Amino acid sequence: MLPLDNMLAKLIRPDIQALSAYSIPQPGNMTKLDAMENPYGWPQSLADKLHDQLKQAHINRYPDPEARELKDVLRNNMSIPDNMDIMLGNGSDEIIQIILMALSQTGRTVLSPSPSFVMYDMISTFTGLQYKAVPLADDFSLDMPNMLDALKTLDPAVTFISYPNNPTGNLFERRDIESILHHSNGLVVVDEAYHAFSDASFMQDLENHDNLLVMRTVSKMGLAGLRLGLLAGHEKWLREFNKIRLPYNINILTQITAAFALQNYDVFAAQTAAICSDRDDMLVKLGKMDGITAFPSNANFILFRAPADSATRIFNDLKNNGVLIKNLGAAQGLLKDCLRVTIGTPEENRLFLDTLSEII
Ligand SMILES: *Cc1c(COP(=O)(O)O)cnc(C)c1O
Repeated sequence: MLPLDNMLAKLIRPDIQALSAYSIPQPGNMTKLDAMENPYGWPQSLADKLHDQLKQAHINRYPDPEARELKDVLRNNMSIPDNMDIMLGNGSDEIIQIILMALSQTGRTVLSPSPSFVMYDMISTFTGLQYKAVPLADDFSLDMPNMLDALKTLDPAVTFISYPNNPTGNLFERRDIESILHHSNGLVVVDEAYHAFSDASFMQDLENHDNLLVMRTVSKMGLAGLRLGLLAGHEKWLREFNKIRLPYNINILTQITAAFALQNYDVFAAQTAAICSDRDDMLVKLGKMDGITAFPSNANFILFRAPADSATRIFNDLKNNGVLIKNLGAAQGLLKDCLRVTIGTPEENRLFLDTLSEII
């Protein structure tokens, strides 16, 4: 037997060895405004009703591999067209992984604008695909000449469009995405992870574009702990992806909890509406701070730019004062000096703003 390090060097794919693991900070007791979670819990009466349902769950049995009840609730809640199919994933991260596993062949590329959701890039690497990014314009809109040029020259197997975009928070122009759909010979996945905070959607466009798929998740609306994402689209695409999906990827507790939560959607609708109004409030207050540029958002977070070369100091000072946000500013390019804060409860938002104005 080889020494352990030699075995690793020999067996683990070189491109995986070259990666560093995606690190998620331990929040401890900090005020957690880093991960786009809904800060609100459930009313006790609703939690009690859910617990009654969970008590009935047969956890000795495998879950329904098709999660039919949950899919019916999702179809209704998310207005998924009757003639479109649904595939569920253990978070939309898993859906990205399934799509890319199905498309992976030597020489194929994955495209997205940049900056955008980091998993498009990471999972492309995991699945042996080449990831290409087209930088956004300075105002965070899609750089259409360069996008169309990339579609033509790279002929990507799939293009991911986060709508609204993470981490910039904006919605791209609808007609730009329509143009991408029109000029793509590959799939276009519109990732609507933040749909609960913006009314815009391509769900009703599925029937008009054979290369369009729409992805959603329940994470950002208030069920991040469940890990449930969904893909809506033409049954011919989903039939292929479904061959790769592990049969019991949505566990029984998630199936019951998500169906129950969406049947009580008014509770979440009230929470997400409060988050949107607190977001708009925070945008105004951030914008008034010396040296801060805050960017308007259609999601449950705000991207802001700090004075030159101070993002990391601000991030660390906030952290030392018990407030955890996301530091994006180490990078060059559009996100230089930028940080991202998730909208929390009014008390959490006030603590963040007060702390920021003290340390800045
Ligand atoms: C958070 C996020 C996701 C991941 O959602 P999960 O369902 O929790 O895996 C997908 N896309 C974007 C743009 C996100 O910001």
